[in-house]
Amino acid sequence: MKRNPKKARQGSVNDSKVRIGIIGAGRGGYGLLQVLKDIPEVDVVGICDINPAAPGFVEAKQLGIPTYLDLDLMLREQPISWLINVTHKSLTQRHILSQDLKGVTVIDGHIAELIWLILSAIYNQIHLDKAKKRSSKDHVKVLYTLAWDIIQQVVDVGQPIQTELANIAFQDPLTGLYSRRLFMQFLDREISGSIREVQPFALVIIDIDHFKSVNDQFGHDAGDQVLRQFADLLNASHRTSDLVARYGGEEFIAVLPNTTLHAACMWAEQLRKQVEKRLVTPEGGPITISLGVATFDPDKYPERPEQLDSTSMKDIRKKLLQQADHALYEAKGGGRNRVIAFTPAEASAGGVVVSRTR
Ligand code: GH3
Ligand code: MG
Ligand code: MG
Repeated sequence: MKRNPKKARQGSVNDSKVRIGIIGAGRGGYGLLQVLKDIPEVDVVGICDINPAAPGFVEAKQLGIPTYLDLDLMLREQPISWLINVTHKSLTQRHILSQDLKGVTVIDGHIAELIWLILSAIYNQIHLDKAKKRSSKDHVKVLYTLAWDIIQQVVDVGQPIQTELANIAFQDPLTGLYSRRLFMQFLDREISGSIREVQPFALVIIDIDHFKSVNDQFGHDAGDQVLRQFADLLNASHRTSDLVARYGGEEFIAVLPNTTLHAACMWAEQLRKQVEKRLVTPEGGPITISLGVATFDPDKYPERPEQLDSTSMKDIRKKLLQQADHALYEAKGGGRNRVIAFTPAEASAGGVVVSRTR
């Protein structure tokens, strides 16, 4: 019978060791790998980066550590207990990491940086001692064990605080959805990604109809409850690669990567129907939403994303938001409870044709 190399690897994992996966094989991941390989309490089981030429990959291959271009695949294939993210501001990673990873301690932000600082101090000391011929195997072992004890305490105490701070900054406290602030950063990334990969993406702005009257009739707490229920419906209706956020008040927003205008309208219409069927006032009365859809077409931007300066990025973002907002305005004016798409066209007066899906 043929042996499955993956199974063999998993089977050989020593359970008393902390199984570490590293996200980011750039300078940070490379350095981390160099030190972690010498710590007896640790088993590095995989390293992941979107860049196949990342320096950490060369080191990992030499050490026989599996390398991945896809984080999901690494998580599926490797039994990981600590996932250390050294990619700093990677919003896409943050988005993936926010999914419920059972049994995995995600270490990122300042805590990942702190671990790196502790380890590099130890690494430098050991090499200094070696150079001065002061080092013995026992001495090195003691230093690594001490460093590892400190790191475990940093993770136990510091990572929950780091996660909470990130949640405060990036999560809307009422609905648990991402905040407008994180959404804007994600949108900028999506614009660059879309230009780089020449793939369109869609933007949908959603507004609850006559929400003021829900508050007026049933009180603010009941209004809050409706917002939470809507957030749950929204959360249940999107793909993992999409990002939905609370845009403000009773307005929500979604970015749908690799999605055409037609597909985005179908998604929006399905959500509208779901809400019409399921979202109710405390007395069981119907609550509806209006949706404005716009798409970003990368073919219109021949520049490379790195050539886009912050002003033109801001302009693209602003224009796109205005287009979706314009469509939403039309949906409200047209009687609410409908999806309207913004489609550029020379023919119409304002340079737009608004197509209705209802
Ligand atoms: P339209 O169909 O035109 O969108 O009408 P609307 O009543 O939904 O719109 P309007 O902008 O007049 O009212 C929005 C209301 O949403 C007013 C504001 O008090 C309420 N609101 C905003 N944020 C919250 C919140 O966090 N909780 C509650 N309960 N209400 C909120
Ligand atoms: Mg509104
Ligand atoms: Mg409203």
